[in-house]
Amino acid sequence: MISVTVIGGGVAGLQAAVFTAKADEETVVIDSGESLVLNSSNIQNLITEESIAGQEVVSRGKEKLEKFGGEIVDEEVQSLERTEDGFLVETGDGEYETEYVIVASAGDLSYLDIDVEFEDGVEGPYMMDRHVVTDDSNKAAEGVYVAGLANSWEYQTSTAIGDGAKAAVNLLSEIEGEPYSDHDM
Ligand SMILES: Cc1cc2nc3c(=O)[nH]c(=O)nc-3n(C[C@H](O)[C@H](O)[C@H](O)COP(=O)(O)OP(=O)(O)OC[C@H]3O[C@@H](n4cnc5c(N)ncnc54)[C@H](O)[C@@H]3O)c2cc1C
Repeated sequence: MISVTVIGGGVAGLQAAVFTAKADEETVVIDSGESLVLNSSNIQNLITEESIAGQEVVSRGKEKLEKFGGEIVDEEVQSLERTEDGFLVETGDGEYETEYVIVASAGDLSYLDIDVEFEDGVEGPYMMDRHVVTDDSNKAAEGVYVAGLANSWEYQTSTAIGDGAKAAVNLLSEIEGEPYSDHDM
């Protein structure tokens, strides 16, 4: 069984997955390849970059994920169901059994056949119709964390990256039973 499956490999999902893979949790990202960030060639709100293209953010994120042993598969999730000991994720091409899920798929959330609540999105261009309701730790239900535009209307790349990191840190804290910190010496 996979430890952490991240649904959506845009900026929030890749950042979350980098954290969980780096923490040695077996991590699989399932992504349909349509990150909104691919629309921008001039992202200026990351403190480490003067300007960076969305394509580069995604490709660097994938490289980093693989460096830490994470896997990314190019598939679209069609359903997520709770099982006795975790979750079953189904795509058109395969099935994945996983202990934990991080939902980071901005957009259509109708594949979520699980016990989560939704709230309406806000009006505006490129805004989502609805978001999953979470607590302050990005947790939506037992074993389910949510990040990025799947979780909130709060837009922009740096916001989604921060939210992905936050979801992963809280999930890792749950797994380890104590506040998780990622120190590189
Ligand atoms: C036109 C435009 C211009 C923008 N310009 C900027 C900018 O200049 N600066 C800036 O900071 N931000 C910009 N943004 C905002 C930024 O792109 C988003 O805030 C950010 O991408 C949100 O991150 P996310 O991870 O929540 O969603 P995304 O990055 O969109 O990632 C979601 C991922 O989930 C995948 N997915 C969805 N459903 C499924 C499924 N069922 N199964 C598997 N995978 C799935 C998608 O393919 C996608 O890869 C722009 C957005 C748009 C639309």
